Amino acid sequence: MAKSHSKPHVVVLGGNFAGLGSAQKIREYAGDSVDITVIDKKSSLLFVPNIPAEVFTNHDPALSMFMDIIKPLEKDGIRFLQAEVNAIDPDARRVDYVPAERPGAATNSITFDYLVIALGSRLAYDRIEGFAEYGDTLSDTYHGNKLRHYLNDGYKGGPIAIGSARFHQGDGANGLEPYPGGSIPIAEAACEGPPVETMLAAATWLQQQKKGGPKTITVFTPAKVIAEDAGETVVNQLLEIASGMGFGYKNETRDITRLTADGIEFASGDSLEAEIKIIFPDWVAHDFLRDLPISDSMGFIRTNLHMRNPDYPHIFAAGDAAAVTVPKLGAIGHQQCEIIGRQIGNEMNRVSDKLAEEYLQPVVLCIGDMGANQAFYIRSNTWYGGNDAVLKMGRVPYMLKMQYKTLFFNRHGKVPNWGIDFAEVMTEKLFG
Ligand SMILES: Cc1cc2nc3c(=O)[nH]c(=O)nc-3n(C[C@H](O)[C@H](O)[C@H](O)COP(=O)(O)OP(=O)(O)OC[C@H]3O[C@@H](n4cnc5c(N)ncnc54)[C@H](O)[C@@H]3O)c2cc1C
Repeated sequence: MAKSHSKPHVVVLGGNFAGLGSAQKIREYAGDSVDITVIDKKSSLLFVPNIPAEVFTNHDPALSMFMDIIKPLEKDGIRFLQAEVNAIDPDARRVDYVPAERPGAATNSITFDYLVIALGSRLAYDRIEGFAEYGDTLSDTYHGNKLRHYLNDGYKGGPIAIGSARFHQGDGANGLEPYPGGSIPIAEAACEGPPVETMLAAATWLQQQKKGGPKTITVFTPAKVIAEDAGETVVNQLLEIASGMGFGYKNETRDITRLTADGIEFASGDSLEAEIKIIFPDWVAHDFLRDLPISDSMGFIRTNLHMRNPDYPHIFAAGDAAAVTVPKLGAIGHQQCEIIGRQIGNEMNRVSDKLAEEYLQPVVLCIGDMGANQAFYIRSNTWYGGNDAVLKMGRVPYMLKMQYKTLFFNRHGKVPNWGIDFAEVMTEKLFG
């Protein structure tokens, strides 16, 4: 068992966007009133959103998308354990983990006063028949490089299919009302910003290489419409633009049944011919999170809109692991880190009740690369019952996407709120 703490001990599980962000916000709002430990099986953050942009400009994303987290955490007096978490006991307030630097380590335990679960999800490519042989994706540097090499060395100019497998959302966000009269709806795809971004960037790449264009690409979705979480207004605009450019579009595929050398077979009975199949899978909960008293019907962590588990209020969740994070978007996780920091700060009497009252009102904020120094920008909350729906395209969103990553790395993840507000002002007001 790890050492006991004289101050309340906050254990944060996960050190990527939601874990690092939560730990930093807790330190910011609770100051030195708490001890904080972060546990992750790897010691670097993977900046997932910019992997597609690297691949379509033929850069190795492994060289530029990893950021060390040990030193930034140490600077804030946050202890880091590189270990694989394999059990949580909410009643005993204990987490079991295996040190991950070398194989063969024995299981250790650590106790907590507060727990933040920010372990993301499993991206279940292993549940798609034929993916290993015939599938491609962009969610990590391994797969990004595999696709990059094929595009540049093996691609024969055949059709490209891009889309998502069916997402199986749990019941953990049912009944929440983030905006008056609104809800957290049920999504049929986990995160459809990436397929939209990929289809636009791939079309530009095809044109630049003189190997095709939008007509070479078909984008598909298990849902009624693609990117439904961006809200009706934005989706209609997007679909109009995409069909005007000549992209193929297939909806209500229900799920992917299997990939073959020649294409994709869908649960709807439909199929698509494709040389390259770029797939975004089902986001599923980690096995050890299933069937816990804090988990929902699919293993995602249940929370209220203050990111606390209703039955174990000292347990929080943030990012893709939280049931309320729909779609599985880093930007929503970012909003949650702020809320968790204020909640714990308030319990330590460092944050006013008024500030701590603020609850999650999710906003889909997505800036997607389109190639040729262009990007699209979506800011929308209408899916949840809000009133904002903005879609912009052009050079300014592209510049902001690239600058955001630079700012994130330079400031070790501490992207100030003005970063987001600045993006909004630049994209919507000055250059709208
Ligand atoms: C191609 C692509 C593009 C995207 N673009 C955008 C975008 O433009 N904007 C946006 O907002 N979102 C985007 N997303 C979504 C975004 O990447 C995720 O929402 C975000 O990464 C979630 O952050 P997280 O910290 O919750 O989870 P993750 O990023 O999945 O991090 C989870 C962490 O937990 C650790 N971990 C997992 N299991 C264990 C364990 N058992 N023990 C110890 N550690 C463990 C992992 O090592 C990892 O560091 C994109 C996703 C993809 C795939």
